[in-house]
Amino acid sequence: MEGKADLHMHTTYSDGARTPSEVVVSAKQAGLDIISLTDHDSVSGIDEAIETGKANGVEVIAGMELSANYNGFEIHILGYFMNHRDKSLVESLGAFQAARRERAQRIVDKLNKLNIPLDLDDVLEHVTGDSVGRPHIATALVNEGHAASYQQAFNKYLGDGRPAYERKHHFSPEETIQLITQSGGLSFLAHPGRSISEELLLRLINGGLDGIEVVHPAHTPELANYYRGIVNEYFLLESGGSDFHGGNKNDNETLGQYTISASCVDVMRRRLVS
Ligand code: AMP
Ligand code: FE
Ligand code: FE
Ligand code: ZN
Repeated sequence: MEGKADLHMHTTYSDGARTPSEVVVSAKQAGLDIISLTDHDSVSGIDEAIETGKANGVEVIAGMELSANYNGFEIHILGYFMNHRDKSLVESLGAFQAARRERAQRIVDKLNKLNIPLDLDDVLEHVTGDSVGRPHIATALVNEGHAASYQQAFNKYLGDGRPAYERKHHFSPEETIQLITQSGGLSFLAHPGRSISEELLLRLINGGLDGIEVVHPAHTPELANYYRGIVNEYFLLESGGSDFHGGNKNDNETLGQYTISASCVDVMRRRLVS
């Protein structure tokens, strides 16, 4: 039987609940042969996963998930097969993380102005990986008794347009694709969802996009087929995965359910060497 690949998984280095090693072991148990760790703005978990993968017979491909700004919307771009030790890649990710810390401080300042006494340290306690984000602030708000639930923290304070919301600085799609390409990787539009405008698609392809994430829990089988058609029409590559967050998003049963075949990964490799 052909191997199964899940090329979208998060660990404690971003917003997943499991360490890279735990993710590899879970992947093995779910019958996966190839995985990619795609932490948000981080490549820090990859070496550990490769090691554990070797011991467990799971192939681990270097990956990451970056956010880009398209006309004020946030789109996600996945990178695979980068040299995750590339100096300028590591420096750029370091700059993203510093910018996230500054933003977290600005959110805390806004909360303080709303008479909510919270310190950045209360937030950083909950950060397991490299990047601090609104989920950590929401957890801190609940923990310190300022919100009844995680969701309420977003609804009252942190969600888009709410009083403590702060924008994140984002690269353009082109800059994001370049960062991936320059470190030797292939770039994929992550979970495009309901539809993709032709304008965005052509802009991304002109910017050097290599493929689309066709298989994803947010896509029905019909939608996946639609994107597979686009992939074929524009000579792009197909990717897919579970977007597993280690149970953080009630996603335990998704593991092993959202996969692409190992031959899709072979096609990616051929694109790399050509
Ligand atoms: P950040 O990158 O810091 O802006 O945080 C983005 C993350 O916050 C998303 O991936 C979600 O997990 C979470 N999030 C954003 N908006 C909401 C919302 N309205 N309700 C619950 N979670 C949210
Ligand atoms: Fe995530
Ligand atoms: Fe995403
Ligand atoms: Zn993701």
